[in-house]
Parts: sequence; structure tokens; C-alpha cells
Amino acid sequence: MARKHSKHDPYGDLDREDEVPATAVTCWLCGRPTGKTIVWHHPVPKSRGGRDVVPMHPICQQTLIANFTNSELQRHGMDVEGLLAHPNVRKFVDWVANKAPDFTATTAKKQR
Ligand SMILES: [Zn+2]
Repeated sequence: MARKHSKHDPYGDLDREDEVPATAVTCWLCGRPTGKTIVWHHPVPKSRGGRDVVPMHPICQQTLIANFTNSELQRHGMDVEGLLAHPNVRKFVDWVANKAPDFTATTAKKQR
């Protein structure tokens, strides 16, 4: 079931530019590579004295914000496993696993 881009460009190897940075940035929450937009998320909210930041997808950050209060985020801190233990977050990560890195959805939007 692997989908491959079929290459029909005979000069593809000559002037191919690597768009992927040498150091791939992976999302703190879901572990997928980040897309064009990287959100630098404070695992401990800035307002609670958090200084460390981690790279995340915008949609992953939205999920955290939607499911945790600042106090809860502060309590979990850098413990992403604790966040993943939340059923809603677990469900989201499993769901988003097959989406493109740049996939964004307005999670707040009502689904019909
Ligand atoms: Zn993510």
C-alpha cells in the first residue's frame, strides 16, 4: 500500500534541492516530522514560569490547549507521556498519525 511519487523527470537528480533540513524536526507530541509551520510550544506555560520550548504542529498544540488547563500543563511539564495518557490526546495522535505534516484542521470547528 506504499504510495510513491512516480518520477518522470530525467534531470531530477541533477538539480534536486533538498527541502528537508539536515536536522529533521519532529513534533514533541505526535512524533511526526513538522511541516512548514513549527510552533514552539511551552510545555510549562510561560505564564507559569516555563522557559523550555518544544517543536510542535499547530494542530497538536491546539489539541493540548483544548484538553488541558494551564495548571494541568504545568503539572505534566515535559512529561509528554503523561499528556499522551489522556484519552482525547491519545485518540488525536493516533488519528493524526497518517496525515501530512502540513495538515491542519480547525479542531474547534463543528463537524457535520
Ligand atoms: Zn504533531
